[in-house]
Amino acid sequence: MKPLVVGNWKMNGTESEASALAREIRKRLKTIKGVEIVLAPPFTALTAVREVIRRSRLRMGAQDVHWEMEGAFTGEISPKMLREAGCGFVIIGHSERRRLFDESDPTVAKKVFAALRAGLRPILCVGETWEERRKGKTAQIIARQLRGALKGVGKSAIEKIEFAYEPVWAIGTGRNATADQVSEVHRWIRELLRAPAGDKRAERCRILYGGSVRPDNAGELAGVTEVNGLLVGGASLKAEDFLSIIRCFARNNK
Ligand code: PEP
Repeated sequence: MKPLVVGNWKMNGTESEASALAREIRKRLKTIKGVEIVLAPPFTALTAVREVIRRSRLRMGAQDVHWEMEGAFTGEISPKMLREAGCGFVIIGHSERRRLFDESDPTVAKKVFAALRAGLRPILCVGETWEERRKGKTAQIIARQLRGALKGVGKSAIEKIEFAYEPVWAIGTGRNATADQVSEVHRWIRELLRAPAGDKRAERCRILYGGSVRPDNAGELAGVTEVNGLLVGGASLKAEDFLSIIRCFARNNK
């Protein structure tokens, strides 16, 4: 299975800054093979980044989406707008959206469904808080978020989703999950996918890890058998760091 590395730029980068970063990544990418790479700039930079990555193997994703195709939803962006802007992917259910913007499991489910319907690949984020982990509730939280998000998604559509395990306590904190913690949760996620997707499709789904991935820990994380890619926040804002993360994944290509 080809690994996937996603750079989530969050609310960083004006149009010109985002273009410059994408240009830098594109320029230095040449020697890296065997990894699928997605850049997720802010909405306002999507069309500019699309131009920079044209005819390269870089792909683009958005960081959020609304569940309707159009209508009276001031401030929102629809799946069909993202498609036309050049996106093939969209991050859904990121913990910052769940926590800061009260995004619930049913909202996440509507977004996943709408994205799939429009031909976008959702990058669905799930993960527990430190408190939940401390109380031994990690498995329960992951199961609730996954089942909630997949409500209404057909069997064959499930393998179009990229799953990202992102422990909330590891995001932007400098504190990444250990290889053992990551491998355990990734195995749970794969098991949870068997019922809704069927065994074969569940095996084909990519499960990414995200949470304080840096050049100095990416090698170990990429070496975990159950990790099929990485979702990178802070470290994706420096071309050099992002590329060295991708590179070490390419070395561990599985
Ligand atoms: C993220 O935003 O998805 C993320 C993993 O952030 P960071 O790498 O900065 O922890």
